[in-house]
Amino acid sequence: MAFAPRFIDGKVFGQDLGKIVCVGRNYARHARELGNEVPTSPILFIKPASSAVDLSKPIDPVRTADGVHYEAELALLIGKRVSRASPSAACEAIVGMGLALDLTHRDVQDELKAKGHPWERAKGFDGACPLTPFVPVKGRFIDWSDLRFSFDINGELCQRGHTAQMLFPVDRLLSEISHSFTLEPGDVVLTGTPEGVGRLPRGARLTLAIDDWLFLDTSSV
Ligand code: ZN
Repeated sequence: MAFAPRFIDGKVFGQDLGKIVCVGRNYARHARELGNEVPTSPILFIKPASSAVDLSKPIDPVRTADGVHYEAELALLIGKRVSRASPSAACEAIVGMGLALDLTHRDVQDELKAKGHPWERAKGFDGACPLTPFVPVKGRFIDWSDLRFSFDINGELCQRGHTAQMLFPVDRLLSEISHSFTLEPGDVVLTGTPEGVGRLPRGARLTLAIDDWLFLDTSSV
């Protein structure tokens, strides 16, 4: 079933969710915690629309031997077509911001990486992209380089991100993406995860927040 992005006031965005463009290693400390080099240009990959689920409902961490790992990330909802755009023009296409968990089968990803294969089986499976409702940004001043977000499990802080620490800041990242993939209304961009990734437990209380903009208490089954 198609996934329709929603805003925090309950309004549904007019288009179904499209592709989800993600960036790997956009925070230096996270790159290092997984033993990766810090990249000189964004490492991009795409999750299909079929991987999206609503994070305001309990999420299923998927039953596999190793389970799934979470990566909490700032998510941007795109409201108009962006192709080969400048950083400032690309930013104007953002209509919502929220948080996503870029769920990853880390053991599968490690195997794929070792073989030099694409990551889709590790990151594009059904349910691999839980998304919060989006904060509408039209008519609001948002400083994209000064947003703080957090992810807590059972009341314990697991990840804390500050967009000032991104290797490729929001405007540059969107511009760079738009030179490879045209972004369409309903597409979502995940901007990378800070350090603190780990295994997502079952039956846990999950809390996600962006400054004073967004607060969501949810759970895993
Ligand atoms: Zn990620």
